[in-house]
Amino acid sequence: MTKNNYRNDTKNIRAGNRKKLNNGFVNSPVYKGSTVLFNTVEDMQSKIKKKNEQTLFYGRFGSPSTFEFENAISDIDDAYSAVATASGTAAIVAALLAVLKTGDHILMTDSAYGVSRNLAKNLLNNMGITTTFYNPILTNKIKGLIRNNTRLIFIESPGSLTFEMQNIPILVDIAKKYSLITMIDNTWATSLFFKPINYGIDICIQSATKYIVGHSDAMLGVITTNKKYAKCVRESAHNLGSCPGPEDIYLGIRGLKTLSIRLNKHQENAIKVIEWLLKQKEIHKVLYPVLPEDPGHKIWKRDFKGASGLFGLILNNINRGLIYKMLNNLKLFNMGYSWGGYESLILPVNPEKNRDSYKWNHKDLTLRIHVGLEDPEDLINDLKDSFKILRM
Ligand SMILES: *Cc1c(COP(=O)(O)O)cnc(C)c1O
Repeated sequence: MTKNNYRNDTKNIRAGNRKKLNNGFVNSPVYKGSTVLFNTVEDMQSKIKKKNEQTLFYGRFGSPSTFEFENAISDIDDAYSAVATASGTAAIVAALLAVLKTGDHILMTDSAYGVSRNLAKNLLNNMGITTTFYNPILTNKIKGLIRNNTRLIFIESPGSLTFEMQNIPILVDIAKKYSLITMIDNTWATSLFFKPINYGIDICIQSATKYIVGHSDAMLGVITTNKKYAKCVRESAHNLGSCPGPEDIYLGIRGLKTLSIRLNKHQENAIKVIEWLLKQKEIHKVLYPVLPEDPGHKIWKRDFKGASGLFGLILNNINRGLIYKMLNNLKLFNMGYSWGGYESLILPVNPEKNRDSYKWNHKDLTLRIHVGLEDPEDLINDLKDSFKILRM
């Protein structure tokens, strides 16, 4: 893949622009297909050897648009290479299975996405791979959890549901000292706001379903790696058969074109909504590292270039029935899984049921909010209307 010196926004706009190949059309075609024809026996034989290196070989191994998407992400992530998968979850599984084997032990942040925790407790555990969950804010204590068979640290920062920031340079230092592989789920920040490979992380996964696709209309995942893990991760994704569909790849490439303006607007709108929320007496705490009073603020400011529109909210001691009524009454903040699309979402969540290494001490309800691209004044008015219910 050819590297260039463009900045992020230009890279994303240029990605996939293949004027000469597409008969002058700006966008690339959607390649649908399984069979790729070989010209000769020799052609076939040489491609069999290279099938795990972005070779047009058979549909499951990728099409020109799959490679275009992968190269675009690898480029903005400052990675060695990337492989696209059918979902963020498929990316996590392929990355873990690429490097782990029976008998291994891993350290996973207790604040990891629910599916990652679930994979560790079930799929990995059933394969004889054990997991210790670590407290995301006690970086130095992690040394005490390392065993002879520890192979990998699985990081997510900020954490799912609870939004703790992790001190990644320190974690990477510890990992290097003990020869551990580092893997991160970078879905919240995307490659635009945090570039893990530049921080010495080995393997990075993103659920492109979220901000990269950005319109809640496709499932897609991507793994970026440094040079050392490029081959085994690609082979693992291929072996698991987790190839993304052609339309979804196209939507991933298209999403990249507007990722930067969307992400910045999500951030701007989130900050406006949070400013209003913080003035309401029903709010106990907002979990968002952008806030100067957030415990992760210093790390966020040091390492990240921006924030997305997803944050947590803890309400004061309010009757759950009233909160549910308030949620049911919202017009613009709808309830549904996922996030990163153009629309605002809200969900009651249960971090207290999903933590092993520490207790989530808030008895009151935690909400997860995704601020979309609507006019922030309308979003605030929607909350204002529904908050009246909490005051009844
Ligand atoms: C949604 C999500 C995933 C899983 O992605 P899918 O594309 O839904 O499989 C992984 N990590 C994080 C942080 C997520 O929010």
